[in-house]
Amino acid sequence: MDIKGRVMEIQHFSVNDGDGIRSTIFLAGCPLRCQWCANPEGFTPDNKIAWYKKTCVACGKCAEVCPMGIGIDLDLEREKCTACGKCADVCPTGSRKRMVTEMTADAVMQELEPNMSVFRQSGGGVTFSGGDPMQQAYFVRELSSRLYDLGIGLAVETEGYFDFDEVEDILEKMDLIFVDIKVLGPKRHRQFTGRDNDLILTNIKKMRRFTKKRIVVRIPVIEGVNADDFNIRRTAEFVKRHLPNASMELLPYHRLGEAKYEALGMDTPSEEFKTPPKERIEELKKLVIGAGVQTISFK
Ligand code: SF4
Ligand code: SF4
Repeated sequence: MDIKGRVMEIQHFSVNDGDGIRSTIFLAGCPLRCQWCANPEGFTPDNKIAWYKKTCVACGKCAEVCPMGIGIDLDLEREKCTACGKCADVCPTGSRKRMVTEMTADAVMQELEPNMSVFRQSGGGVTFSGGDPMQQAYFVRELSSRLYDLGIGLAVETEGYFDFDEVEDILEKMDLIFVDIKVLGPKRHRQFTGRDNDLILTNIKKMRRFTKKRIVVRIPVIEGVNADDFNIRRTAEFVKRHLPNASMELLPYHRLGEAKYEALGMDTPSEEFKTPPKERIEELKKLVIGAGVQTISFK
């Protein structure tokens, strides 16, 4: 039987998630609740329906087909929505949208098939992202095995919050591993993500065994959370000590996910989270380099 996974999106021709030209598969479900997350539809694996009010022309077609009797204003009756997606199928403006859908591994492979020669020619491949793809390890295992057998380059973007022994075989198949350290201090990590970072830091230390893989430790740099010299320097020192061959990527925070929060009827991230100016990112990169770690940028 073909196995199924919960997919937020498959983004083709991406150049930001690894080498060459890539398809990035965003899988739903994440153990963390980062207060600034740009993909809140991926917090849980369930199907979800967004309603983009700005483009809605109030034609009423969604209400006509809804088996639950929900009207145009989805926010008023979200608790009744079963995410069947019927409204998204008929909405003429794309204002109702499926944010998570179930796909079989065969269907994902079929979608990737036209890009295989582009992956090979560009030195690219497939990146698993999320959410945290390791939340659907069984699905990533299946897809990565099939792609590995075809000689396609593989990368994963993970929060690092997983049982290492359970996913080690998947990590072994990757050419490139991106792993985040949101904040090094455990208290602040818990405050902003809802979880301690003990397990994440332990897993990062274990990645030292992957001597032939490229590992990139990423920090989403957010003024008001983690953009201070102390945090960045200590994080770089941690990386140098435990993953001496890894590089670091500093990603300036952006608020592009805000429209999704509104469309899903969720509160938007705090206004206190700010994007650091370019000059500040350059200063922080110097701290990283000063700690003996190379910086890299895929964006
Ligand atoms: S079908 Fe789309 S455009 Fe029409 S009322 Fe519903 S959400 Fe708005
Ligand atoms: S997803 Fe289904 S249940 Fe939810 S509003 Fe649309 S048609 Fe109604």
